[in-house]
Amino acid sequence: MRLSTLFVPTRKEDPADAEVISHKLLLRAGYIRMTARGVYSFLPLGWRSVRKVEQIIREEMDRAGAQEVRMPTMQPAELWQESGRWAAYGSDLFRFKDRKSADFALGPTHEEVVTDIARHDIASYKQLPVMLYQMQTKFRDEPRPRFGLMRGREFIMKDAYSFDLDEAGAKKSYAIMRAAYERIFSRFGFEYRAVEADTGNIGGDLSHEFQVLAETGEDLIASCPESGYAANVEKAEIVLETADRDPGAELLDKEMIETPKVRTIADVCDFFECSPTEVVKTLIFIADGQPVAVCMRGDHTVNDVKLKAYLEEHTEISCNELELASEEETGKLTKAPVGFAGPVGLEFPVIVDLSVKPMVNFIVGANKKNMHFKNVNWGKDFTPVGFTDLRMPQPGDICARSGKPYEFVRGIEVGHIFYLGNKYTKALNASLQGEDGKLKPMEMGCYGIGVTRIVAASVEQNHDDNGIIWPMAIAPYHVVILPLQMKNEDVVKCAEDLYAELQAAGCEVLLDDRDLRAGNKFKDADLIGIPLHVNIGSRGLKGGNVEFKVRATGEVEEIALDQIKDHVLGQIKAALNK
Ligand code: ATP
Ligand code: MG
Repeated sequence: MRLSTLFVPTRKEDPADAEVISHKLLLRAGYIRMTARGVYSFLPLGWRSVRKVEQIIREEMDRAGAQEVRMPTMQPAELWQESGRWAAYGSDLFRFKDRKSADFALGPTHEEVVTDIARHDIASYKQLPVMLYQMQTKFRDEPRPRFGLMRGREFIMKDAYSFDLDEAGAKKSYAIMRAAYERIFSRFGFEYRAVEADTGNIGGDLSHEFQVLAETGEDLIASCPESGYAANVEKAEIVLETADRDPGAELLDKEMIETPKVRTIADVCDFFECSPTEVVKTLIFIADGQPVAVCMRGDHTVNDVKLKAYLEEHTEISCNELELASEEETGKLTKAPVGFAGPVGLEFPVIVDLSVKPMVNFIVGANKKNMHFKNVNWGKDFTPVGFTDLRMPQPGDICARSGKPYEFVRGIEVGHIFYLGNKYTKALNASLQGEDGKLKPMEMGCYGIGVTRIVAASVEQNHDDNGIIWPMAIAPYHVVILPLQMKNEDVVKCAEDLYAELQAAGCEVLLDDRDLRAGNKFKDADLIGIPLHVNIGSRGLKGGNVEFKVRATGEVEEIALDQIKDHVLGQIKAALNK
């Protein structure tokens, strides 16, 4: 491809509204454009990279014995009603009606559709195992779309589904997929971890997330160097507080104190000259419209995965959607601005974290502007509906397996595999006769990879001040030829000849045939991140040489003109076979 005709609208300046480096660089280098919030167009270079990612995943899925299919984007509500997720999926589901007013959704995932296929067309256990996959555009009305391709409302996912007769078979399928995922993420050159993940309301303990290590990752991973256990913090098992309140402790009477402008835990600690461990913070959540208060020790944060699980298992409160109340809602519910919420006198359920249980005479907000209570005690001043572990692990927390402290790193979740059991096959009645003649629901697994998120994650791990540094596997083109003086006929001819030869050899090559200064060509080649550069200049040519540059290391070598083609091809081959 010639850069003079390639549609690659690069920009000099960082876009103002992009926060993370992958978003900035993909916009600047002309890979993507935002069409709506969380909705992106892929320009020619961006689309080539997406297709590279898809192709590697496809090769490894095929190798693992999965078969490619294509299921529809629009899905009838009936299937979602059967599984119970028409209600449970909440506002993330894009819903619409057809001309006859029948309800549909834009697929955020395809368990229902694939299970519907399986129940009609898998007639005998002899057809099993079956593993199907697709590359599909998914739609999720994310509450906080951000970071460009990382969290979109429309994005491409590879999703796969396995069907087996029994648990042993399903676990085998899971292991095959897990191994395929390891190969895939190695081929992309990622530094990543497979970590144990939360299984939400599906239960079971077999789920792994594949996390690309990056500062900008939205996920926090707790890993224990001692036991080797690594898990998303949402799931990581920590040694919990088991202490009860000292029965001999004197429970003082609560006292209201005027605390002007004391809003944050840090403000409270300054004002009362105390430690965050003596303060209890109160957070207001809305679970399907119903308010719930959560009390945590001042230095802790809530894990809403645990909160959701607790509400579902131990209370009548339904929580298909669980969200922290907005400032406005908190104001209405506590009759005080944010920062002054407390458990005393609330007219809705208060759930208390285990770490608060041993505390006595603690400080809380007074549900009144500029007021806090001191010497508050549970049982005496307010009655919790229950105590439970609600907190996120944090530095200092101890691994439940080894008794040693966890280390924490940030990650970008690029894949998620899940042993589902019979959740969907039972709900949709996808049953088979086993060898014993008895009818039972098939066992399922589901396996997702964020195709477009991988493009962003790769940039997060591979860039410098000058731009993107693609690994060969994702690069839209492998090599770019830069004729440095377009007015010099020898230079131009040499570049054209090499371009033709590399193309003939099947190489994915760019030729920067624009009439620009060398400096501008260098800048663009670096920005768009092409792994190999061949600079052809009049001075070098006189000695029969060209310059060969490796983008990742910046190393430049003089190579004899008659060897450059083989050199380039050899480098590409070596990088792709790694
Ligand atoms: P997250 O916790 O990041 O929201 P998820 O658990 O909802 O992810 P899955 O439903 O398991 O994700 O989807 C499979 C994969 O699809 C994820 O591992 C991720 O790589 C990708 N993915 C999920 N949501 C998005 C999104 N909004 N934008 C881009 N990729 C996404
Ligand atoms: Mg999600």
